[in-house]
Amino acid sequence: MTGDMSGTKSGAAGVSAEEPPFRFEPGGFLFVVSGPSGAGKGTLVERLVELRPECVFSISCTTRPPRPHEMDGKEYEFLTREEFERRRSAGRFLEWAEVHGNLYGTPVEPVDAGVRAGRVVVLDIDVQGGSSVRRARPDAVCAFIYPPSMDALRQRLTGRNTETPEVVARRLEVAPRELAQYREYDYLVINENLDRAVERLVAIVDAERARVRRLRASSDDAGPTRSDR
Ligand code: 5GP
Repeated sequence: MTGDMSGTKSGAAGVSAEEPPFRFEPGGFLFVVSGPSGAGKGTLVERLVELRPECVFSISCTTRPPRPHEMDGKEYEFLTREEFERRRSAGRFLEWAEVHGNLYGTPVEPVDAGVRAGRVVVLDIDVQGGSSVRRARPDAVCAFIYPPSMDALRQRLTGRNTETPEVVARRLEVAPRELAQYREYDYLVINENLDRAVERLVAIVDAERARVRRLRASSDDAGPTRSDR
């Protein structure tokens, strides 16, 4: 027998197992977090972005009036219907939808810039927006947030005290149709326990960041995806 077969110290010309010849950098991607209103998407996304520095929240535009604690440019960019429609005609939204009587849209430019910069750009959008993004960006990673029960959904929607009883009733009415769409998604997260659901989202991000097809070589040495740079 010739050579060291342990595979730990020597191998092909100059390649040491302790030190790879190049470094890897995970590439960015779009992370769609969708599901019915009241499933808890907002809180989950907030926690994910706090926990993972590579994750950035995509600030949507909306024609809905701000709630008392909301600040323009933080939760949303609040627009008049006219301005929203102007931007929509100018092709500035990756997707847009009318949700419970108001217009919501994802600005395309910051999303694409974030992905190019290697970030995980997190979209908290409704299920119509989820379908549009899957069509426009087949590479997007899509997670569906499922409430533990219809009762829990009802409790969350009424407990928020941000909507009138009519709005809550409308949201509950469309929920079963929205829930049926989970099959179109890559991942299902049941939001029964907040901490566990957050852990799930973090695990999804970590796994997707480790995908070989997304890795980029970050040193000047030739790496496996050098031709992509
Ligand atoms: P809220 O008005 O309660 O903040 O949000 C209502 C719904 O609109 C939520 O389901 C939220 O995920 C969704 N939403 C927020 N931003 C967007 C967006 O840019 N596009 C779409 N399609 N839905 C959005």
